[in-house]
Amino acid sequence: MGVFHEESTEFMSIDGKTIPMKVYVLQQNRSKAKELLQVLKTSAQTHEKYFGPYPFPDDKIAVVETPYLGMEHQTINAYGNNFQFEKIGDATADWLLHHELGHEWFGNKVSVGDWADFWIHEGLTAYGDWLFYLEHGGEEAYHEKVNSVRKSIAHARPVVSPRNSTSDFAYHPEIYTKGAFIIHSLRYFLGDEIFFPMLKAFATDEKYTYENLVETADFTQFVQKYSGADLQGFFDMYLKTIHVPKVKVRKKGNKGYQVSLPNIDFKMPVEIKTSNGYERHMLSNKPVLVKSESSIEVDPKGWYLLKKD
Ligand SMILES: [Zn+2]
Repeated sequence: MGVFHEESTEFMSIDGKTIPMKVYVLQQNRSKAKELLQVLKTSAQTHEKYFGPYPFPDDKIAVVETPYLGMEHQTINAYGNNFQFEKIGDATADWLLHHELGHEWFGNKVSVGDWADFWIHEGLTAYGDWLFYLEHGGEEAYHEKVNSVRKSIAHARPVVSPRNSTSDFAYHPEIYTKGAFIIHSLRYFLGDEIFFPMLKAFATDEKYTYENLVETADFTQFVQKYSGADLQGFFDMYLKTIHVPKVKVRKKGNKGYQVSLPNIDFKMPVEIKTSNGYERHMLSNKPVLVKSESSIEVDPKGWYLLKKD
């Protein structure tokens, strides 16, 4: 309870619908309300671009100021980040507001039936946080953000917990960080032309939305069916174990280098920087020859979680 000031506008959704958009701030913060509303609008537009139309257009898009940091609540998110806005490229952003709003798509529209699959809420929403950097700051800002998060991933527990987990048990940092990182890796694996439409298609497919609950297998099967790529080994390793592919590089005379990922039983495309530039190679436990006159760098931009020599 509190004495609130309301600021409102209308939001034009990408599917043409007009949606009421509101912020409620405490009276003493009324001077911040207009900017908060603009931040909310930018975040909603960014999410819609990647995840599809706002899921609850007949209701509203709203935030209400709270004494705690924040929480996703369908159509009115709790906001307690104290208007700590930052500039990301051309946009004014609030990471907390953007994150909670992302849960309208992953959490509220796409919902898991077992907390074992909690990462679908937090990992995909956290990936949406990184997409804000891509959209407004560009590729460099996106990769900088991804690589800053990479350092915090301890590989302490698998992303997916055992069936029938409680939310308390299944909730751990890597459902955010590693969950989002796996989606980032998928971007390279599939390529942007498939990856971005696939992400939107998953969040829009009526088999996986609203009353219908999802689990990890729904997501992994959807991605493979949509893309035609065999990703089962990739998903199994990254989602269900604490292991990552080990990179083995051996010099092969003056021809180049033999590169393999000896501890995996599947194939994945990996970017390698050679004397000829950036190349895409399909790597597995069988070594492939990568021609280069100078030493090579495997996955220089950091698309994957890997263990390098
Ligand atoms: Zn969250």
